[in-house]
Amino acid sequence: MTQFDFDLFVMGAGSGGVRAARQAAARGKKVAVAEESRVGGTCVMRGCVPKKLLVYAGQFANAFDDAVGFGWSLPTPPRFDWTQLISAKNAELNRLEGVYRTMLRNAGVTVLDGHAVLTDPHTVSMGSMVYTAENILIATGGWPNMPNIPGIEHVISSNEALDLLSLPRRMVIVGGGYIAVEFASIFNSLGVDVTQIIRGDAFLRGFDQDVRTTLTGAMIHRGITLVTKTTITAIAKTGNGYRLSLSDGTSLDTDLVMYATGRRPNTAGLGLEEAGVHLREDGAVVVDDYSRTSMDNIYAVGDATERMALTPVAIAEAEAVVRTLYDGKPTRPDYDFVPTAVFSSPTVATVGLDEATAVARFDKVHVYVSRFRPMRNTLAGRDERTMMKMLVDPDSDMVLGIHMVGDDAAEIMQGFAVALKCGATKEQIDSTIGIHPSAAEELVTMRTRRE
Ligand code: NDP
Repeated sequence: MTQFDFDLFVMGAGSGGVRAARQAAARGKKVAVAEESRVGGTCVMRGCVPKKLLVYAGQFANAFDDAVGFGWSLPTPPRFDWTQLISAKNAELNRLEGVYRTMLRNAGVTVLDGHAVLTDPHTVSMGSMVYTAENILIATGGWPNMPNIPGIEHVISSNEALDLLSLPRRMVIVGGGYIAVEFASIFNSLGVDVTQIIRGDAFLRGFDQDVRTTLTGAMIHRGITLVTKTTITAIAKTGNGYRLSLSDGTSLDTDLVMYATGRRPNTAGLGLEEAGVHLREDGAVVVDDYSRTSMDNIYAVGDATERMALTPVAIAEAEAVVRTLYDGKPTRPDYDFVPTAVFSSPTVATVGLDEATAVARFDKVHVYVSRFRPMRNTLAGRDERTMMKMLVDPDSDMVLGIHMVGDDAAEIMQGFAVALKCGATKEQIDSTIGIHPSAAEELVTMRTRRE
């Protein structure tokens, strides 16, 4: 029998890789995980976690304003210190990286710092070291993708946006997806004059149309300047900023440009194709329903595979791989009713089908929409409205999708996602007693259909 150094060698210590490594080790397997950057990966070090800390920072700006309507007066106008925020954020990331490393060590996983390259389907080289493994898991994540236009070297991505030395006065953000709307919201709430340039006519293509129009309107209302149906054709450095040439022939001056135009799988330079692992043209690892690649002993999960680029999905894929490999239970990750939230201001959260997809798939779809001013906004003098939407198949009474734009949308949607996963019907949701007064109770009291 061939003796390998490890039962499982994981390339990449992000959310998917760490989960697979720990769970395999918990089953008594000998596991190594290689990481060339920081343990924790995109989500913990360059994405979800630092982003959400900055979202919280931005929310205080509104809270200070709103407080006045509730009787508070602030002795001096509140001051914000970006440098202090970034150093607190960095301290928290250091703490988290320590927690991740300790967790892996306590689980018996060997953490190898450095760049790992496959030299054959069972062998990984890291500098002068060579390791063999029975199974390999590719969990190397993704990286920002930008169009190749003159001057693109001047722009930053979300990676650098999280570590700016100071806040610019003006900023252009390109893109209308998750990252673009989240960062536009953060910088807008922290006082930066944000212009967002999108090639479509509303944010978040692929989301429900009511979500898209509600969020787009709300972000403009909050002060973001939106330029639609436009792309940047060139970027030139000026004295203290940048001049952008736009596709309509005009130009725009700004202090900083951030691109959030999608991400691509981080699979180059890993020896994957040489080891027989098939990649798509965009670099995504080709996998079957069990996350197995074209090589029998090599698996891939998370953003490296471009299925659903969400941390909890990568974790679910990693858990499924471990069950397939070590529990004798071939397991497919379940992609039905995956809830998701966009931490823009206001927040978007959604689970299930959008209206256009539901209408295409079902004979008839009943649509319930509610727009209301949340109670907190009354005394605060804020005229922003919350939008909630529910889609129902009238034949089975099953709820097909729920969408929300408004405060606490992510917290509310997690619970409703459980209900939809369990096959909740509209009748069951209607028979649920609301929590009063809350915004969430609106979802159990939607009685009037949109015609
Ligand atoms: P997205 O795919 O969400 O959005 C990309 C945006 O860039 C779209 O608006 C797209 O326009 C636009 N775009 C693409 N190419 C160009 C171009 N050449 N010129 C101008 N605009 C362009 O990518 P993100 O980078 O925002 O995020 C990547 C993924 O990461 C997300 O899809 C999501 O899965 C995940 N993520 C999840 C988060 C969460 O759960 N809260 C947070 C952040 C990221 P168009 O729509 O016209 O194609």
